[in-house]
Formats: sequence, structure tokens, C-alpha cells
Amino acid sequence: MDIVSRFKEIKTSVPKNVEVVVVSKTQPVELIREIHNSTGHAVFGENKAQELIRKSEEFASEAIQWHFIGHLQTNKVKSVLTKVNMIQSVDSYRLLNEINKEARKQNLIIPCLLQFHIAREEAKFGFEIDEVKRMLDTHSYDDFSNIIFKGVMGMSTLTNDSALVRSEFKSLFTYYQEIKRSYFRDNQHFSEISMGMSDDYQIAIDEGSTMVRIGSLIFGSRK
Ligand SMILES: *Cc1c(COP(=O)(O)O)cnc(C)c1O
Repeated sequence: MDIVSRFKEIKTSVPKNVEVVVVSKTQPVELIREIHNSTGHAVFGENKAQELIRKSEEFASEAIQWHFIGHLQTNKVKSVLTKVNMIQSVDSYRLLNEINKEARKQNLIIPCLLQFHIAREEAKFGFEIDEVKRMLDTHSYDDFSNIIFKGVMGMSTLTNDSALVRSEFKSLFTYYQEIKRSYFRDNQHFSEISMGMSDDYQIAIDEGSTMVRIGSLIFGSRK
């Protein structure tokens, strides 16, 4: 099956209220264009600043929405801000502050997700729940006037143990609810739970995902 058919199959298999982010990292712009032109799909995910900037410039005249999904270094914030429609991977107060500061300078409003560390692996980035609570206890979201807090994001452990994956997604759902209730009750923007990738998106949807990020299931495994 070709990439367009695989994309369409995934798209029809997920509920209408679940956004599919096509993760195009490492893939050539031709394949992005093929999906965009033949289906109209516009939301793509990239995890490297340079790569996102380069690709977004190739699509300057088209309505592609780029979601940044990787670890973002503060020194790259300035250069990606005009290119991204959402930063899904805000994993520290320092980064949040930098995004807000640069966005203000550039007169932009940047939708962001707070990335939580839910996996067993040490290597994955993200906040712990207590860190976010401490941050939001001391700073109201109004302090970040150039950020729209859209919700949360997380990555499960890379494992065949689907019970573990499910429990990690349950944790993220609970974090979302706690934060929504305590800090964003009157903020209608805070509504997204980005969880689920090629191997676990069905479990994630069962557990309340509103946004799945899918790469290899569409493009084949990355080299
Ligand atoms: C690469 C990546 C994905 C997509 O992974 P696949 O297993 O190829 O679907 C999703 N989210 C993040 C943060 C990624 O880095």
C-alpha cells in the first residue's frame, strides 16, 4: 500500500474528534507534498529545528501547519517561532519563558502543550506533575501572555507491554484533568491530550487522546 492509502486508512480508523499529526521527520518534502496534495491534510510534526525550518520554507505558499514535537533548545526558539503552529514539547519552565519572551518580541501568539514524562525510560524529556503544579502555583497562565496553553503531551515507554503503556496514558489523562481543574477551568483553549504513536495510538485513543502523532505506520520505518 502507498503512503496516501495508509494515511487515509488511519484517518478513517480514528474518531473524528482526534487529530492526526503526520510525523514527517526524516522524510523528504516530496512525500509530505504527496499527502498534502492528494488529501488536503495539513498537520505535520517535526522534531528538529533545522529540519522544520528547511521544510517550512519549501512550503511557504501552502497552508501546512507544523507542530514541533522534539526537544527544543532555548537557543533555537527564536528561529522556529515564525514557522510553527504549535510547540507540543514544552518540557521546562526555562523553555516556556523563552518561548513567551521571543514570541512577545516577534508579536506572535504560540499554542503550546506541556510535555510530561510518563515513560519508564530516563531518556525521555518532560515535566513531572509536581513541577507543573509548582510552576502554575507561582505563575498564572496570564503571565505568559504570548502563549496559549492548549493541553498536554506525552510519550509512553517503548515496550510490548500494552498494560504498561495503557497505565502511562491513564496517568497523562489524570494529569490533564488535575491541571485543567486547578488552573485552566475557565480557559477553553486547554483541551488537548496529545498521546499515541504508530504502535500505541489505539490504546491512547481508548484512554482519551485527542491528538495522535503517527510517522512510521504511514511512511514505513525510519532509517
Ligand atoms: C517520531 C515521533 C513520533 C512518531 O513515531 P512513530 O512511531 O514513527 O509513529 C511521535 N511523537 C514524537 C514525539 C516523535 O518523536
